[in-house]
Amino acid sequence: MADSRTPPEVDRAAASRRAVAVRRERAALKRDVATRVITPQELLRRAIADPASAAGTMRITDFLTALPAIGEGKRDRILADLEISPVKRVGGLGARQRAALRRFLDGRWPEPTPREGRSRLVVLAGPTAVGKGTVAAAIAAHHPEILLSVSATTRTPRPGEVDGEHYYFVDDAEFDRMIEAGELLEHATVHNRFRYGTPKAPIDAALAQGRTVLLEIDLQGARQVRAAAPDATLVFLLPPSWDELVQRLVGRGTEGEEERARRLKTAKVELASQGEFDHHVVNDDVTRAAAEVASLAR
Ligand code: 5GP
Repeated sequence: MADSRTPPEVDRAAASRRAVAVRRERAALKRDVATRVITPQELLRRAIADPASAAGTMRITDFLTALPAIGEGKRDRILADLEISPVKRVGGLGARQRAALRRFLDGRWPEPTPREGRSRLVVLAGPTAVGKGTVAAAIAAHHPEILLSVSATTRTPRPGEVDGEHYYFVDDAEFDRMIEAGELLEHATVHNRFRYGTPKAPIDAALAQGRTVLLEIDLQGARQVRAAAPDATLVFLLPPSWDELVQRLVGRGTEGEEERARRLKTAKVELASQGEFDHHVVNDDVTRAAAEVASLAR
């Protein structure tokens, strides 16, 4: 008869596979916090909600060193200050320790609070390859009441792109003229190559009619809109995880190794700017994300 204390071989194999999977998940979560795909507070919330999850079983020491600008020395001082033992797991913290950790995180990395009184001018921005264009196209397809702004650009049309529908394709002289004439709400050079800008007149006309206007532009443009129209609603599109963003960049397969590395670096910098935005939407599913952005636009 089998010893009842020893799990059968199959169970042990399954348990060890589970352990490997959770370890992998924890490593991915650490990357998500380090690259700011999720906030440290979000990880803490997940750990409390489910102490057996990847977040819950993460060592407090690993959690702290995943945070920006925290090395081992700083980590140990923080743990001493918060009176948390270094052997603790995030999901195993006591109520007082959780509250102290939360206060510390809020002090260092405050989470943005959605602001009231936003206008119907909605900006959708986010890191490279997160899928802004696809989400914007889904919004345009399902919400004809929302005007998707058509930008001017100095790049040449790709196959299938229609002038006046996807972009206004203009040359440098015309782009200069538009800037001079004050016809653009914002403009920027994207990926160090071509210039892109948002024509102001159609936006003003649509807003005057009470319509919602959606701009799908890059980060530099989003900042200019914030400065020009401080009550605009700024939405940041997030990838479901850092690994997924990398996959999407690689998946495109259109860039060489050097360009890929450059874009990943850019994506990290871009993710770090999410605190400037009023809302954060995770692009886990295009239709769902589009519906969420559209609901913010009302
Ligand atoms: P693509 O050339 O692939 O269509 O677009 C490249 C990038 O330009 C995208 O990240 C897009 O968000 C950005 N972009 C498109 N139109 C505008 C615009 O009017 N202003 C700014 N600042 N960026 C834009």
